[in-house]
Order: sequence, then C-alpha cells, then structure tokens
Amino acid sequence: MTQGDQRIVVIGAGMAGILAGIKLQEAGFTNIAIYEKADRIGGTWRENTYPGLTCDVPSHHYTYSFERNPDWSRHLPPGAEIQAYFERTVAKYGIERLLHCNREATSAEFSDGRWRLGFRGGGSDEADILIAATGVLHKPKYPHLNGMERFRGHCFHSARWDHAVALEGKRIGIIGNGSTGVQIVSALAGKAAFLEHYVRTPQWIMPVENGYFSAEERAAFRDPKVLEAAMRFEEYNAAVERYTMAIVDMESEGAREMAAACLANLEQNVADPVLREQLRPDHTPLCKRLIFSPDYYQAIQHPAAALVTEDIQGVEETGIRTRDGRLHELDIIVLATGFHPDTFMRPMHFRGRNGVELETLWADGPRAYLAVTLPEFPNFFMLNGPNGPVGNFSLIDIAERQWHYIAQLIDRIARGECDEIAPRREAMEEFERARVAAARNTVWYRGGCDSWYLDRNGIPSSWPWSYSRFLEAMAEPDWEAFECIGRDRGE
Ligand code: NAP
Repeated sequence: MTQGDQRIVVIGAGMAGILAGIKLQEAGFTNIAIYEKADRIGGTWRENTYPGLTCDVPSHHYTYSFERNPDWSRHLPPGAEIQAYFERTVAKYGIERLLHCNREATSAEFSDGRWRLGFRGGGSDEADILIAATGVLHKPKYPHLNGMERFRGHCFHSARWDHAVALEGKRIGIIGNGSTGVQIVSALAGKAAFLEHYVRTPQWIMPVENGYFSAEERAAFRDPKVLEAAMRFEEYNAAVERYTMAIVDMESEGAREMAAACLANLEQNVADPVLREQLRPDHTPLCKRLIFSPDYYQAIQHPAAALVTEDIQGVEETGIRTRDGRLHELDIIVLATGFHPDTFMRPMHFRGRNGVELETLWADGPRAYLAVTLPEFPNFFMLNGPNGPVGNFSLIDIAERQWHYIAQLIDRIARGECDEIAPRREAMEEFERARVAAARNTVWYRGGCDSWYLDRNGIPSSWPWSYSRFLEAMAEPDWEAFECIGRDRGE
C-alpha cells in the first residue's frame, strides 16, 4: 500500500469529524469515509436548537484556525450561525463527497490488521485507520420526577426542542441552571406569559459582553491581519492558561479574580436581597462549569419570571408541585437537565486486538492515553475523547491540537513504519495514575460541589493540568509510549 491509499473511516460529522476529513484530505489521503448517524452534519449544533442557543466561547475563537469567519454577527456566536458556518466549511472543502449520512456505525472490531465496521440496518466497511469523532455531550439526561407521565402539557429535553409548540402566551417551567437552562431563561423571559426557573443548586455567573459586530468591523475582518490584531489570538490563549491555572490552583490570582468578578456580578446586578440570597451559590466558583451570561440576572428579575428553589416533589397533570405543597400551573416543562457525559462512541460495540472489549477497558469509567488513543486498539484515534480538556474554552482549538498529535501517528502508518500503532498499556496506566492524582487537586474536586465533570467514583473527568501542559503534550507523541508493530517484519 502506498502513502495515502489507506482506507480511513471517521465516525461522526460534527465539528471534530469535519476537521478530520479536511485534514486527511489535505494530507493527501484519498480513501476516506465519514459516517454520520443523523441526516446532516453539525453534531451539538444540529441537535441543540433551543431558544437562546449560543456558544459562550467568543465567536472568533470558536472557529477553525484555518477557516476564519469574518461574518460572525456577535461577540458570542449564536447556535444557528455556528451550524451554518460548519455547513459552509463542509461545502468549501469538498467534504460532502466523503460523507455518508443516516449511516450509524454500531460495531467496530479489529482483526487481521484492519477495523471491520457494522452498521444499523446492515452493511459493513473496513478501515486501516479508524477515527472516533463522536462528541461528548450527546445523550440527554432525563430526571426522575414522580408523575412526569401524567403531565398534560408539553415536556421535552433542551436538546430535543419541540418547535411545533408555540411559546407565546404560555406558562413555561425550565428545570436546570447549567449553561443551557440559563441561556433558555435569558431568551424567553418576557416572551412567555410567565416563566419559572427551577434551580436546585445556584451557580456562579461570570458577566460577559455580547455585542454585535458592525458591518464595518465585519468588512475589515476580511483582512486576516486586521482580524488577528482585533482578536489577539495569542492573548486569548494566555487567558485560557489563566483559567486552567485557576482550576488547578484554587489559591491562584486568576481564581481570586474570577471569584471576585462572579461575586460582584451577583451583588451589583440582583436588587432584591431575598432573591440575591436565593441565587448565591455555596460552592467555590469554577467548581461547576462556569456560566458566562450577559443577561441572566436581568432575565430572572423580569416581572414575568420567577426563581423556584423549593425542591420539586413531582409533576401533576397541570404542572409541578414543589415540596412546600404549592402547585405551579404550567403549559410547558423544559428539561435543561444536562447529558450523560461518559457515553463517547457508545452504544457502539468496540473490540480491539486479541478480543479486548472496550467495555472491559472502560469497566471503571472511560479512559484513554492522553484522551486520544487506547492500548490494544491499534490505529484507532479519538477526538475529544475521555478526560480530555473539556473546560470553558474552544473545543475546536482542543480538537485541532489533538489532530496535530494524531496526524503524527497516522503519518507513521502511512509511511509504512508501523502497520499497527497503539499506546503501551503501562503508558496509559501511568498517565491515569498521574491524571487522577492531579484531578484530586482541582477546584472541580475540592470546590464543594457536584457536577457532570465528576465520574462515578467522584473523580473529575477532565484535563487536570494547565492549557500549556496540554499544548506540550500534543506537540509530539512520546514515541516510547507507543508500540509500533510492523506485521510483515514480525516486530
Ligand atoms: P448541566 O450543566 O449538566 O446542568 C444540568 C442542570 O440540571 C443542573 O442545574 C442540575 O442541577 C439540573 N438538574 C438535573 N437533574 C435535576 C433534577 N432531577 N431536578 C432538578 N434539577 C436537575 O447541563 P447543561 O446546562 O445542558 O450544560 C451541559 C454542558 O453543555 C455545559 O456544562 C457545557 O459544557 C455545555 N454547554 C455549553 C454551552 C456553551 O455556551 N458553550 C451552552 C450550553 C451547554 P444540579 O446542579 O443541582 O445538579
């Protein structure tokens, strides 16, 4: 097989799968397929369509580094613009011809040096190299609320928004105050007849600007130098570094600054002292994923909005009953209750070399060497895999850095230096020991809160070091950590 002839299969056509397709094409690979279970590309930005959907990473930083977008309308990108940006990018880079939509991969097994894939509804494919770009937060988490089936109004998860249901004139209850719930409340306060926000654990809110770019600014951004000067990409990376240091070191200056900004936001922007106390969190800022919002406090103080901190006792035919015995009559209940964060490629059935099952490897929770590779799973690479950096910054940047690393491993296969490449088991175990030890020092672990960052053992499942350490780790593989098997040479 000559360089570039390898069959490469990418699973998932969200932000990361599109990136993989573009980069593989650019590297000269000609035999690529991207399988997508849905009917179109977009991942998170296809599935989430709730009112107020916005990415809280600034627009120009939530952009592929090789495909800048001068046309972002606002400081924070609206979800629909992000989806349109990915669709445009797919068309521009000719990715459509690699795409197979409505094609859900259900199994992948490594045998005789190749990955063999099975699909829902039948059919198969084979690959020399397999890439999982299946996303992280894609399986909605539904709460167990007594009597939910009795509700006569409309009830849906934030990621399954029912657009057939009109909102005007309706009484809407929104359960959950993660980034999603906060964005929905901000969008709907004043539009619904009445809106109630059910908050079990108050969250810290970081203020953020979300102005519009003027037509002149957008025109000027067509010049990459102007864009670079306006967005100061390097400076932004310094801010990301400060943010990660605040997670790693709760006593750091950055941690104190962010805590002070959140506190001032609450103190200065919530007028009623009772409401202010109800909104005051009891954990350290950054313990849960920090919420950036320009307008949540204004929204919850709207005359047609109310905060409900009383526990939910159950759902009845006409609304939600809280523990104080009050029935809150509602037409619509929105479950902004988050996602199962440990799904990754599953429910796909994965089997690596020597019959090693993914479920066995992940019996104690998802793990991977540096979030991208797995022992006994040769020529298999993950973008945004387990315990990778999933903090409050651009997952596009993270995926690009991971791609830089993965591309070097693929290159060794393409050049015929390795038929099979996978990390050594000891390398992953050593990485896991260090990761878990570091995770116990983070604010996610020590900050006094529960969050989706914590795995079933209570260990934060995210990159527990600084951004600069992540950049260093992704710069070049530590080749000693990898087994490179040349089948023909019997090495
Ligand atoms: P989330 O952060 O997991 O929040 C879920 C919310 O639902 C929490 O407030 C939780 O309360 C509440 N909840 C869950 N079960 C409940 C129950 N039985 N009764 C009452 N409340 C319940 O979910 P999310 O808001 O969808 O956000 C998930 C992640 O998606 C974010 O952290 C972020 O990574 C990503 N996201 C990003 C953006 C962005 O702008 N970049 C926007 C949206 C989402 P407790 O806190 O008490 O558990």
